Amino acid sequence: MEVKLSHTLRDYVTTIHKLERRNVWAQTRQIAERLGVTDAAVTQAVNRLSEMQYVRHRKYKGVQLTPKGRRIAIEMIRHHRLLETFLFEILKMPWDMIHDEAEKLQAYISPEFERRIDALLGHPRFDPHGTPIPGPDGEMEPVSYQPLLEVAEVGQRFILQRVSDRDPKLLRYLEDLKLTLGTELEVVEIHPFDGPIIVSANGQRHVLGRQLARRIFVVPVTSASQAPASRSDQS
Ligand SMILES: [Zn+2]
Repeated sequence: MEVKLSHTLRDYVTTIHKLERRNVWAQTRQIAERLGVTDAAVTQAVNRLSEMQYVRHRKYKGVQLTPKGRRIAIEMIRHHRLLETFLFEILKMPWDMIHDEAEKLQAYISPEFERRIDALLGHPRFDPHGTPIPGPDGEMEPVSYQPLLEVAEVGQRFILQRVSDRDPKLLRYLEDLKLTLGTELEVVEIHPFDGPIIVSANGQRHVLGRQLARRIFVVPVTSASQAPASRSDQS
């Protein structure tokens, strides 16, 4: 029988998962910064997680999830993205608010709650930001989107398929421009020397800075047949 992990320890697992993807080993200091706790609190939590075999801890290297820990992390990602979809589609919460709200809730919901919102939503495969939702088995839909900045070519048409969910200001801005998921855009001009990318969408021209073009993900129109459903019907 597996011991049930507290929500606090689940938050640690999620944080370690985010950090180790970039650096292979997560550092105590980084975990403390992310969670807004002391180094001593991290050490204590890591020792507990290590005893329960959710993490490996190596002196001078840091912390890494075990396969058992990674399963919990993926479960938290599934919770997060299902909750985002639930908040957006059922509770009609604005696009830019759902990420923070889901962060707060993801460690708390039970398997039964998860199962029920998944069924209520019709087993969605993508969240409202266009990111795949891991299935109950942890498998994720393969994706082919790339940052607009990397693939933009003058005259090429793209479908907007995913946006980064971390920055509410970015999401509000895109919504103001009516650049929501499923929007078709055509690259009109690419300015040299780190200049902006001009696109046309819904009959309007938009000047997109490089920073913005790096955080919106697109597929060329030709291969967009597997696009997740448009979610432009926000209210
Ligand atoms: Zn999110």
